[in-house]
Amino acid sequence: VVAIATTVPPLDPEDLKFFTAARLRAARLQPYLSTALFAMVPVVRPGYGTFGVDRWWRVYLDMDVARDWGVAATAGVLVHEAHHLVRDHHGRADRLKVRLDQARLWNLAGDAAINDDLVADDLPRPDRGIYPESLGLPPNGFEEAYFRQLVARRNTTAHETCGSGSGNVAAPGEIEDEPEQPGGDGIDDIDAVAIRRAVAHDVMVASRRGDAVSPGLARWARDLMSPQVPWRRLLRSTVGASVRAVTTRAHPDWSRPSRRADANLDLLRPGRRFHRPDVAVVIDTSASMSKRLLDAAATELNGLLHRSGIREVTVVVCDAEALRAQRVRRLGDLRLVGGGGTDLRVGITAAASIRPTPSVIVVLTDGDTPWPRSAPRGTTLIAVVIGGSELPKGPGIVSVRIDEP
Ligand SMILES: [Zn+2]
Repeated sequence: VVAIATTVPPLDPEDLKFFTAARLRAARLQPYLSTALFAMVPVVRPGYGTFGVDRWWRVYLDMDVARDWGVAATAGVLVHEAHHLVRDHHGRADRLKVRLDQARLWNLAGDAAINDDLVADDLPRPDRGIYPESLGLPPNGFEEAYFRQLVARRNTTAHETCGSGSGNVAAPGEIEDEPEQPGGDGIDDIDAVAIRRAVAHDVMVASRRGDAVSPGLARWARDLMSPQVPWRRLLRSTVGASVRAVTTRAHPDWSRPSRRADANLDLLRPGRRFHRPDVAVVIDTSASMSKRLLDAAATELNGLLHRSGIREVTVVVCDAEALRAQRVRRLGDLRLVGGGGTDLRVGITAAASIRPTPSVIVVLTDGDTPWPRSAPRGTTLIAVVIGGSELPKGPGIVSVRIDEP
């Protein structure tokens, strides 16, 4: 009889009792993390020196160290390790193309972001000293931003690894088998996605109920549950599609007779010409709007129009006092100073009355305005709403929201 060694041996009764107590306490500290905490597969590793996770949701436990910490602080460490997994630090390191020699810095960035949140939640934990401020980083930051700053500074802070689950290189003693291999207990990528979504859902429910949820985790949950198409891509595809639709619509043009007409002068046919759309841009300069986003939107739109072969656009600036229409070559050249309190329908009507009638009217606004029920006749109205307001709907109206990243 050949005994097949299981790579994940069961915990002995005493370790199991301690681990179970710590895990229950962790689940009470952050109830919305329960799904993740109870999905983690404990692996006892004497001499490991600390706790760590691998990318398959196995949590490596040095139980001697844990007993020194005590149940309360161990619960805090389990929460920390679960955060590495829930926030997908392993996958994000891949997507960010973190090099092997930078993995340590990515681990640091993840620890700083996690611990920043745990401090905000007032969680007990042994002090590993990795916080944004101890690394000279601003609070409430994203892991990716922390990482870039640490790389730029060639940070040399010594730090114990949190394992491959944190996006670091595998710690000594990590099980190499994937979850589906015999004895390779763990969570595969598909289950991990489901667990993350369950946690994000629970975080949002808790947050709506008014429970204490650290800001970083709330932001993470919101992003996961409402994946946003980057607005630049959305704007490009929306404006691009409208411009293309007009450009490729061939118009009969009697000033350029078809060459086939030469053969039969009795039958004069119109030539066909591809129409370059006239584009008007209505800009709302209300004071509440993010100037940075407005500039970003104008710059993006400008590049877009130029690439589509549109050299000049008519801009209607709507502020509190007046409507001003002008032909410009570069949207970025406009000085947009705030006013506000304008009914943009007036600006849209003004844009539609320009001759020749623009086929595309783009509106840049914070959305704090009444909208027409439909696009003006013969035009496509593209509403670029800067900030969180509701998007207008109606025949001929296409909406894009531009938000903080
Ligand atoms: Zn860590």
